[in-house]
Amino acid sequence: MIVEIIPCLNDNYSYIIHEKETNTVSIVDPSEFEACDKSINKYKKLDFILNTHHHVDHVGANIELKKKYKSKILGSDSDKDRIPGIDIFLKDNQKQKIGNLEFKVIFTPGHTKGHIVYFFNKDKIAFTGDTLFSLGCGRVFEGTYEEMYNSLKKIKSLPLDTKIYCGHEYTKSNLNFCSAYDSRNYLLKKKEIDIQKKLNSNQPTIPSTLEQEIKTNIFLRCNDPDVKQALGLKDSSEIEVFSKLRDLKDSF
Ligand code: ZN
Ligand code: FE
Repeated sequence: MIVEIIPCLNDNYSYIIHEKETNTVSIVDPSEFEACDKSINKYKKLDFILNTHHHVDHVGANIELKKKYKSKILGSDSDKDRIPGIDIFLKDNQKQKIGNLEFKVIFTPGHTKGHIVYFFNKDKIAFTGDTLFSLGCGRVFEGTYEEMYNSLKKIKSLPLDTKIYCGHEYTKSNLNFCSAYDSRNYLLKKKEIDIQKKLNSNQPTIPSTLEQEIKTNIFLRCNDPDVKQALGLKDSSEIEVFSKLRDLKDSF
């Protein structure tokens, strides 16, 4: 399974997945036709379009690509009225194949009501859309804080060496937020050096790994005593800590 990163719009990432054995070509969250088509061109085909959620910066090129390549569009069953051109409706925990690659659907409401994550078991790769970012998480637009937190917990239970491919390059501003409330985290400081190196040479900071995220992403560290202390929420529940962090980040 080969994943190619395509920067789109200001800070979006679309991802091409190439499975060589059956020469199956897919794309995750195509936001911009021109940029995506330029990369698809070398394969001369696009079999599948995988959408994590209905926002236009994730589905913007669906129709144009489908028209050009006769691709099949996959998305959440509960977003079937909002994902342009959808053909295949996916349910929570469903297993589905694209070529020889199998993925599992993880229903992750919160950012939107129908958000899903695509987890490829064998290669341990997760496309997390706008639910989990590197060092951050998506805004809670349509769901509740509790739903979003539970969705993050589902992702947290994947294998630690899972590679995380998310929907946006928000890593630097997320890093600043994490550093503000988790200032004693040594691994975060280490990660900062790596992030800065990549950004300085115009490279994506993606993929991250789940293990790194669990150790450095403050939204996955709502139970950490230092984080709770920094927020003045020593005796609060995880969900209270998460809600506080989400509110603070919204106005950071
Ligand atoms: Zn979104
Ligand atoms: Fe987005």
